[in-house]
Amino acid sequence: MSPHFAQRMEKVEPSAIKELLALGADPSIISFGGGYPDASLFPAAQLEQVFRDVIRAPGGAAMQYAPSDGLPRLREQIAALMVNDGTPCRPEDVLVLQGSQQGLDFAAKMLVDPGDVIVTEDPTFLGALIAFNPSQPAYVAIPMDADGMRTDALEVALKANPRARMIYTVPDFQNPTGVTLSLERRKHLIALANQYDVIVLEDTPYRHIRFAGETLPTLKSLDTQGRVIHLGSFSKVLVPGLRIGWAVAAPALLEKMALLKVAADTQTSTLNMAATSLFLDRFDLTAHIDLLRRSYRHKKEVMLDAIRQHFPQDVTVTDPEGGLFTWASFPAGFDATAFMRDVALPLARVAYVPGATFFPVDEQPNHARINYSAQSEDRIREGIAALGKALRQAGPV
Ligand code: PMP
Repeated sequence: MSPHFAQRMEKVEPSAIKELLALGADPSIISFGGGYPDASLFPAAQLEQVFRDVIRAPGGAAMQYAPSDGLPRLREQIAALMVNDGTPCRPEDVLVLQGSQQGLDFAAKMLVDPGDVIVTEDPTFLGALIAFNPSQPAYVAIPMDADGMRTDALEVALKANPRARMIYTVPDFQNPTGVTLSLERRKHLIALANQYDVIVLEDTPYRHIRFAGETLPTLKSLDTQGRVIHLGSFSKVLVPGLRIGWAVAAPALLEKMALLKVAADTQTSTLNMAATSLFLDRFDLTAHIDLLRRSYRHKKEVMLDAIRQHFPQDVTVTDPEGGLFTWASFPAGFDATAFMRDVALPLARVAYVPGATFFPVDEQPNHARINYSAQSEDRIREGIAALGKALRQAGPV
């Protein structure tokens, strides 16, 4: 049997990195690979309580089908979170999604024909590329510096690419670099999107995990023309297993996304929406987020201290103000994929994500994404020391 796959499946293929990362699941390996929150901080007892109570709700409401846009109470609560964060939002502006990942899928389905251009940061979130690929886009990747996407380069790219349909950005503590888009560039990005009539997809799963510096306005709050689709998620601030995320967008866009939602899965799990909603009513999410921020700030410091102590001097790392990742850059000529396969995994027993996988166009081999949220402090120290030793033994490249 040789199935005839649709053309859109052409770019739907496993990456080589996936196999490498699967090796990192071995418990004897210290993995800085996944984007996992710290499981020891999951509010398990509270979740157990709300799940029990929603199951007991009158008429089995939480076990029944629900509106495809999401439970009305949850949409209200999400709108209130957005407003608290400085972004005007009404409950009817919110579409509940199965994780923000689903919003990436819908945005590309809604806006991108084969050959249309999606503009991304360089590097960008791998999961977004995976979601966009079936729409067969061409990618234009915009270089970044310590202030995020370089909007001067964005301007040049938009001028040169009349088929640009969407600018995808993770403005807060980006995955994979940990870098945040500055206020000036946020304003410039919106001005350019207006000038060139492009939709902006703002993806913010790490936004509330800020542990240094000032909170910056969302792109959505700077949007005067209704051209920003904002994606949010409870994955990093509550638990990813709930799979609850959301989109906030102007009615013309949100209505289309809501139709894609019906097509994809009818609705997000009623049980998970009801449990999330009751959790928000009953417990203090802000206090829980404060706990995460303190913990991740500390772990980030432990990791960067260990890196300064153990890594060769010519390796640089970003110092994020929030989120889950730092981004290591090795000297030109260093191949972080080969080093992981040949040295880090088998000898140092440490995993990271080789950076090449995050570049949509030209893969740069000499970077790595390193997560500091998932492992304990002791394992962070141990893993970084082992990786540093292996790097020193490998010598200059
Ligand atoms: N966007 C970014 C930048 C992410 O890092 C992730 C998850 N790691 C997601 C979206 C998807 O998150 P979820 O579907 O769990 O909300």
